[in-house]
Amino acid sequence: MSVHSTSPQFKDNAHAALHDVQLQRALSNVRVGFIEKRAKAAGKLPEFEALRDSARDIKDHVLAHLDLYLEAYIAKVEASGGIVHFARDAAEARAIVTDICREKGARTVTKGKSMISEEIGLNDHLAAAGIEPVETDLGEYIIQLRHETPSHIIAPAVHVNASQVEEDFRRAHTHLDAARDLSEPVNLLTEARGVLRERFLAADVGITGANFLVAETGTSIIVTNEGNGDLTQILPKTHVVLASIEKLVPTLEDASQLLRVLARSATGQELSVYTTFTTGPRRPEDPDGPESYHVVLIDNGRSSMLGTEFEEMLRCIRCGACMNHCPVYHAVGGHAYGWVYPGPMGAVLTPSLIGVDKGGHLPNASTFCGRCESVCPVRIPLPKLMRHWREREFERHLSPATVRSGIAAWAFFARRPALYRLATRVSMNLLAFAGRRKGGTKGRFAWLPFAGGWTEHRDFPAPQGGTFQERFARERAGRSGETGATAPASSRAA
Ligand code: SF4
Repeated sequence: MSVHSTSPQFKDNAHAALHDVQLQRALSNVRVGFIEKRAKAAGKLPEFEALRDSARDIKDHVLAHLDLYLEAYIAKVEASGGIVHFARDAAEARAIVTDICREKGARTVTKGKSMISEEIGLNDHLAAAGIEPVETDLGEYIIQLRHETPSHIIAPAVHVNASQVEEDFRRAHTHLDAARDLSEPVNLLTEARGVLRERFLAADVGITGANFLVAETGTSIIVTNEGNGDLTQILPKTHVVLASIEKLVPTLEDASQLLRVLARSATGQELSVYTTFTTGPRRPEDPDGPESYHVVLIDNGRSSMLGTEFEEMLRCIRCGACMNHCPVYHAVGGHAYGWVYPGPMGAVLTPSLIGVDKGGHLPNASTFCGRCESVCPVRIPLPKLMRHWREREFERHLSPATVRSGIAAWAFFARRPALYRLATRVSMNLLAFAGRRKGGTKGRFAWLPFAGGWTEHRDFPAPQGGTFQERFARERAGRSGETGATAPASSRAA
């Protein structure tokens, strides 16, 4: 997939997104729905926080022994009659899949939702080779018709509304009655189901991703809410699983622990509607299933993250909770990020996969509020990792001149504490004074130099209660006062 991710592009995209009324309406569903559902599901499970610890530990253990688990997994897949391929990068992965399709004489390929397939840009490659890819997840199908990329990793068409889908279906499904009623979402669903059913039956190869790969059994696991993944992998004669190498888990027991946090974090469900375990091709006694089963294990930059400060990012189980809780994602949506992975996880993963020179600006798209880390089911310290990328961007002189001179100015004051205290007090008093004014259409602080990126779209509270240093000093004095008061009581107890 091509990269549309540079700092000026991000700003342009974000600017356009903030003025897109339809998009802003669509994003309001993310701002409320996902968050409430996750909170409810987590609240109903007393051991949810313990499960998050356990999920983190499972993924850390796998990453520490990835070579061993890869070997064990490959051996099990082969023992069950499957074939494992290894792709070092996106080009190799695309070539392997295309070769499998050509070998099978495939003209149509159905696909389950797979972010790694987006990452390697598979659809365009297949189409160029004369093989028609058909996305079967409803959201993916809609964005395929619109020639768009996903704007969310679990809800790829979250930016699209029902009347846009109606337009897309009328444009694409010209074989259907032009007078049909598509005014209700249920009619859109019924139409998509009917059209896709034909495609499932006609497909020569089915391609799915994998949420987990189980080393102990050689099993691939997918979770869906539509059952499209099952039809994709069962009906065609050939099933191809695309998975990045960090999807491994040691045992079925480990997979079930991760499944317990995945759906709750993603959609607030206890489990997704379909959780499907697949091991190898159809056996003689099986009622259905593919005749051949291929797994393409894709590295594409993951192994170079191992052993670095970014290794923790490989724990990600692609639940989407971090973007569902991110105020920046809420404001600009997924397309602003310019590549496959949006939100906080994308802000860390994208520079890791495409380079800090192309994606290093994305970690700046964060307020560091910490909500992403607080909901991540595998406890990835996303703000810390974004900070590492910001450091790298700065060290390599990739950050804009305004940022560099701002940091240089800050460093000048920070090295002179008395001057720093004076400067912050004066600035704070000025802002507090300005904050008493009534804001115009652009807010009370629109006059501030260099702050247009913030003040053009939102106001902020006027500072109050003293500078940080003053408040810190007061609190510290208060604490030592408390300690002094309690000391005699402790002495008495002794
Ligand atoms: S970083 Fe954490 S919260 Fe975000 S998608 Fe990955 S697992 Fe989910």
